[in-house]
Amino acid sequence: MAMNEPGHDPADVATGLMLQITQHSERLALLDQQVAALASQLSQLASADDRDEGGDVNQPEPVPQWWKLEGTERDKALNRLRAWVEQVYRPGYGHLAATLAPCWDQHLFCLYSLDWLMELWSALYLTEERKTSTLASQAEWQIRLLPALAEQLHHETANCERHRVKDPRRQAIQSALNRNP
Ligand SMILES: [Zn+2]
Repeated sequence: MAMNEPGHDPADVATGLMLQITQHSERLALLDQQVAALASQLSQLASADDRDEGGDVNQPEPVPQWWKLEGTERDKALNRLRAWVEQVYRPGYGHLAATLAPCWDQHLFCLYSLDWLMELWSALYLTEERKTSTLASQAEWQIRLLPALAEQLHHETANCERHRVKDPRRQAIQSALNRNP
């Protein structure tokens, strides 16, 4: 009788073992899938980390070689700088930005200077994660670097005679003054 009880018949034992092996294989396949999913999530996290640490997203643009840029290359670099000055610098930095004369984009000195000011601003403000060091750098940018540079830019452009006549805004003001003395 004992031989007929389930689990004692060699055929039953073999079937039971096969069943267990099948179940283990299924579990292993499931674990494989989970491991693959975790690996994929990890690699996504790692590449996001790379970007935060200075990868593609916050990496400054290559330095424009203002002294020899020409044609479309120069236009492209200049348009990028003009956009920052008009959309960020002038609206955001009030009385300091107001000291920059309209002919700034015709002074190499201003191009060199505003280029790094813009890139540094982008690195500090176009970032999702703010660390204590970011805060300290933002303070440094605004309290120390910005006023010092704004003063230099003002000296460069304030008494500029070279572009005085050609600047349409100055001409408009001048002709308005001439009409209404
Ligand atoms: Zn000028």
